[in-house]
Amino acid sequence: MLIVMRAHATDEEIQRVCDAIKAMNLTPHAIPGAERTAIGITGNRGEIDVGVLEDLPGVVEAIPVSKPYKLVSREIKPENSIISVGQTTIGGKSLAVVAGPCAVESYDQAMTIAERVKKSGATLFRGGAYKPRTSPYTFQGHGVEGLKILAKVREKFDLPIVTEAIDEESLAAVDEYADMIQIGARNMQNFSLLKRAGRAKKPVLLKRGMSATLDEFLMAAEYIMSEGNYRVVLCERGVRTFADHTRNTLDLSVVPAVQRLSHLPILVDPSHGTGRRDKIRPLSRAAVAAGADGLLIEVHHQPDHALSDGAQSIYPEEFDRLMLEIRQIASVVDRVVN
Ligand code: PEP
Ligand code: MN
Repeated sequence: MLIVMRAHATDEEIQRVCDAIKAMNLTPHAIPGAERTAIGITGNRGEIDVGVLEDLPGVVEAIPVSKPYKLVSREIKPENSIISVGQTTIGGKSLAVVAGPCAVESYDQAMTIAERVKKSGATLFRGGAYKPRTSPYTFQGHGVEGLKILAKVREKFDLPIVTEAIDEESLAAVDEYADMIQIGARNMQNFSLLKRAGRAKKPVLLKRGMSATLDEFLMAAEYIMSEGNYRVVLCERGVRTFADHTRNTLDLSVVPAVQRLSHLPILVDPSHGTGRRDKIRPLSRAAVAAGADGLLIEVHHQPDHALSDGAQSIYPEEFDRLMLEIRQIASVVDRVVN
């Protein structure tokens, strides 16, 4: 259920509706929009008796939400959300470009790559300190030491930091050191972790599970928002198919599909989406053309020596070229590049 407030409802009127919802033992979620604030209600098992809410000052109407997800839906917020991350934003006219190595390997490695991607126009820096690896015998990340290196990158290059949390313990650490918490594909349906991310201070970058449907993807975002963290950005990173010419099949059609149903921004990650260096630029161009709100790109200055995902990491020179290319395509779809 959704309580739609009139265009210039006062803070007091909104608060009064929220208090009335709480008095019914339910949870209010006030989502301000360009035209009006809507208040989503969660926590109910059955029908809600909205009579008392509809009579409160400032309320226009109570409307049932037709989708299984409420807070991620365009029904609660018709216009696109712009999510603040550090000093930048994701979801506006300007495309977000998240770039960096798969993993933080050393101070020098992170600094070298950060300097290059910053110069090319990246708006956020990424690098894993906690790596979910297929094999327990491969590099698992430097943990808190990696987070400290990332904090130094932010300080030196003035770039907000995105990094992955793989469990509740690492999530608390990432929430402390980084500007944005990444929840990886393997954890997209780790519901307790999603709820914990919903109670974090920082915005969340939620990657699509490798076999997740659109509804499952949006419901995962709903888990985070239902706990009160409304700063969620989605990320398509490829799904498993029979195709074996790439690591995954990048599903660009999910971009307009998400945008039709949800107000949340969506990025595209052609690095994990294809797993192949030579596919990154073509699919980055296509993602921008399809209307993505930005990209997530793995960049390494020595990919042959990378401790993870070297085969899909592009060289800094190629990243520079990618930025030039997407700048041109962005103008066709009424977007701009930093
Ligand atoms: C990553 O971003 O480095 C990563 C592990 O991605 P995914 O969760 O999409 O596999
Ligand atoms: Mn990676």
